[in-house]
Amino acid sequence: MKVAVIGAGVAGLTAAHRLSAGGHVCDVYERWPGLGGQAATIDVGQGHLLERYYHHLFTSDRHIAELYDELGLPDELEQRPSTVAIFTGGRSYPFTTPLDLLRFRPLPPLSRVRMGLAVVMLQRRNGGVEPFESQTAREWIQRTMGGPAYENVWGPLLRGKFGDRADDLSMAWLWSKLTLRRQIKGEQARQEVLVYPRSSWELLFQRLQSSIEACGGRVLIDCPAARISRDGPRFRVTPGEPGSFRRGHDPRRFGVRPEVDGGYDGVLATVPSDVFEQLLDAELAAEVGSAYLERLRSIEYYTALCLLLELDRPLSPYYWTNVADLELPFVGLIEHTNLIEPRRYGGRRFLYVANYKPAGDELLSLDADELLERYEPGLRKVNPAFSRSWVKQRWRFQEPAAQPIVTVGYRTRIPPATTGVPGLLLANTTQIYPEDRGTNYSVRLGNEAARLLESSLADARPSAVRGAAGGASA
Ligand SMILES: Cc1cc2nc3c(=O)[nH]c(=O)nc-3n(C[C@H](O)[C@H](O)[C@H](O)COP(=O)(O)OP(=O)(O)OC[C@H]3O[C@@H](n4cnc5c(N)ncnc54)[C@H](O)[C@@H]3O)c2cc1C
Repeated sequence: MKVAVIGAGVAGLTAAHRLSAGGHVCDVYERWPGLGGQAATIDVGQGHLLERYYHHLFTSDRHIAELYDELGLPDELEQRPSTVAIFTGGRSYPFTTPLDLLRFRPLPPLSRVRMGLAVVMLQRRNGGVEPFESQTAREWIQRTMGGPAYENVWGPLLRGKFGDRADDLSMAWLWSKLTLRRQIKGEQARQEVLVYPRSSWELLFQRLQSSIEACGGRVLIDCPAARISRDGPRFRVTPGEPGSFRRGHDPRRFGVRPEVDGGYDGVLATVPSDVFEQLLDAELAAEVGSAYLERLRSIEYYTALCLLLELDRPLSPYYWTNVADLELPFVGLIEHTNLIEPRRYGGRRFLYVANYKPAGDELLSLDADELLERYEPGLRKVNPAFSRSWVKQRWRFQEPAAQPIVTVGYRTRIPPATTGVPGLLLANTTQIYPEDRGTNYSVRLGNEAARLLESSLADARPSAVRGAAGGASA
């Protein structure tokens, strides 16, 4: 069958790879002039590729590891020791091991023990997320870890990342962060180990593209979908003009190419929920129905705002610094070359300055230089010697649908992948739950979406055709 996949991020490429292997011919439409979506890379010079947004994997990320194996890349994923710090009260404190927590002076000694025990108990209890879905992270932290742990550590961290929505955040979100990634036992208690691909994420995307093309499919970059509509019982995709990504994310603002690709038996969209709604023409939106569209609208996203700096020296000794100080205008510092040695980049060093903001926040309107100027005093608080002269290059990236906000009762609002229109599916990060979104889970999502689309296509086929196919294979 002929299938259109909208979006060449991890989920879209994985799904198209699976569908191609299942004998379907896939056209993958991608707005950006490159592969990988939120995990896409840029050439930072001298042929070195780096993700636009900081990326690593956890040793527990098995879905993506299996995909690397399947694509003949078993040695691509490398384990690396990581170092974490918390910046609070004017200085950075190491925060990688249980011993670091016991020495964490911003908390009274009893609170340190209580906080550590709460995490250990959470990790050791058997059972799923259900008991945590009806309470906020704040309630749970205050009750289990105590007031000081919330006031000095978690409160500023959550407010830094989720702003006004911090108090509404579901404990389900924090449960997944604290239990599914790193277990505080064995080797991992002494040293956190993270995973990063030797050739950046790009090689994975190239292999997926080759697999899709080898089966007769097309991966069309800088070729967004501007509209999805009916083509008799099938579907039609109207592609947007080249360069449409410069007009933002709303496909209704893209110019359209004269050629329209029709005759798709199925369409799998892997775009954010708001973009999916904007893609549907009126007839298809009516078929999808208002109940489904309401679900799409019920989940809010925060925008990731990322300033990537090439520095001529390290800013800190840590890979990951969580900023628990609301006076600093960013929430995290991710010093990539403290995880991966600078030698890999010809001796160059890279730092991501991370932020999450609601749509319309003033910081989102600043260009790279204005942002750097705004961040400079904060960077100097982390390292008083920091000077603008350390910055050799800078890039600014912004992803509007980066973080679905997981509030209490989130599960009941998740839009199902099946839209109610046979052959039309949506698979995006709002459906990743209870885990926090990540490339590992987008691989899982892509696998599941391909399976669901195949069964939806099988159901949609006229029974005479199904009977004939059944007879032939019997
Ligand atoms: C700041 C940041 C840090 C992160 N850190 C990590 C990390 O350390 N580890 C990790 O595993 N994950 C991390 N993630 C999350 C991870 O990158 C995402 O969860 C994952 O890549 C999502 O994949 P996806 O395919 O589901 O969605 P996306 O990557 O969003 O893919 C959707 C695709 O659809 C395309 N698209 C949009 N509109 C159209 C249109 N009209 N027509 C055609 N195409 C369209 C987009 O360009 C995009 O390529 C991070 C994300 C961010 C933002």
